[in-house]
Amino acid sequence: MLENLEIVIAMLEKVGMAALIVLAYRLIRRARFSIVRSSLAIGLLFGFGAVVAMANPLEVVPGVILDIRTAMVALAALFGGPLAALIASALTIAMRVNIGGAGALAGCVAIALAAVIGLVYARLSGGRRDPIGLAILGLLLSLSLVAGVFAPVPLVSSTTPALIIRNLLGTMILGYLLAMEDRREAEYRAYKREAERDPLTGLKNRRALEAFDRQVAAEAERHPFAVLMIDIDGFKSLNDIHGHAFGDRVLRRLAEVVRGRMRGFDLVVRYGGEEFCVVVKEATLHNAQRIAEDIRLQIMEERFQAVTEEVTVTVSIGVAEANASALSVFQVIEHADKALYDAKNSGRNRVCTYQPETDRRQKTRSA
Ligand code: GH3
Ligand code: MG
Ligand code: MG
Repeated sequence: MLENLEIVIAMLEKVGMAALIVLAYRLIRRARFSIVRSSLAIGLLFGFGAVVAMANPLEVVPGVILDIRTAMVALAALFGGPLAALIASALTIAMRVNIGGAGALAGCVAIALAAVIGLVYARLSGGRRDPIGLAILGLLLSLSLVAGVFAPVPLVSSTTPALIIRNLLGTMILGYLLAMEDRREAEYRAYKREAERDPLTGLKNRRALEAFDRQVAAEAERHPFAVLMIDIDGFKSLNDIHGHAFGDRVLRRLAEVVRGRMRGFDLVVRYGGEEFCVVVKEATLHNAQRIAEDIRLQIMEERFQAVTEEVTVTVSIGVAEANASALSVFQVIEHADKALYDAKNSGRNRVCTYQPETDRRQKTRSA
């Protein structure tokens, strides 16, 4: 009775450790390390897991020790690649050597074999991590038992099934939990990507501006940037005359034109219904003005096919740059918006830049 209780308690300890490993694995994945760093971290994590498992084995009957060191090493190979397998197996072998005893050589060979089996399985199966794949890996790990030939006493055949079940369950349970973490992380990233995008144009939405603003605020050295606010002229009547689907087509094409004119690291955002905001990085007002003019001309030259006729579309653009009085991207947007208002008021289909003097005079008058 007492023995059974001890086995249950020891098993619960293992469950706790598995939970800790899964949690640490989640943190590594979430941290978005480079491939090398992430392999390094996974290798250390699983190596540590195997070392702890060995230091605190579950002895079912005298001589039959249940720990999941080979499963740990094989999972390091499957989830972290060759570097992780190398680190995990090196740590585990070091621990086994440290424990010493007559079975040390056999133990070390078994650990090295587990790493090789994990790597070969990962390569041949294309990194398969579903329960059946993990069960196959768990069974393959039993091949590491051939290391028993290095043992001074032959392996007792009655312990072999327990060792095979140990490998199978260890690999399946821990592997399943880790694969679930990977799936959850992939889903999280996909949702996050979707939440930051406008479904019609595929451009980023306003949230990207908040992230950029945080980045600007955190930078020690201020990098110059300028903002374009682009608004389609008379878009409401385009919709009214040619239909909403036509309007959507215009929006998609405008997004393409703007994205095509900008560099990859510039930020192109669908700001509102038919309003786009572009953050031109490392640019002066003069550069931004030229880009705005290019966009305006390119849109004006496009021909949009409506049901009965070809339609031209024009845009008005306001331009402003970051400076001492407008450090936040939202302040610069406000200035670009004022310039856009000027462009609309002075006849549309044009680019206007923010005029601080006029703005100041207007503010004084309204105060
Ligand atoms: P202005 O020249 O002053 O900019 O006039 P406008 O008609 O372009 O501006 P207004 O703000 O009056 O109209 C914007 C229109 O954009 C109204 C709205 O129906 C339309 N709109 C907003 N979002 C979408 C969309 O996703 N698809 C389509 N087709 N139309 C949209
Ligand atoms: Mg408009
Ligand atoms: Mg508008």
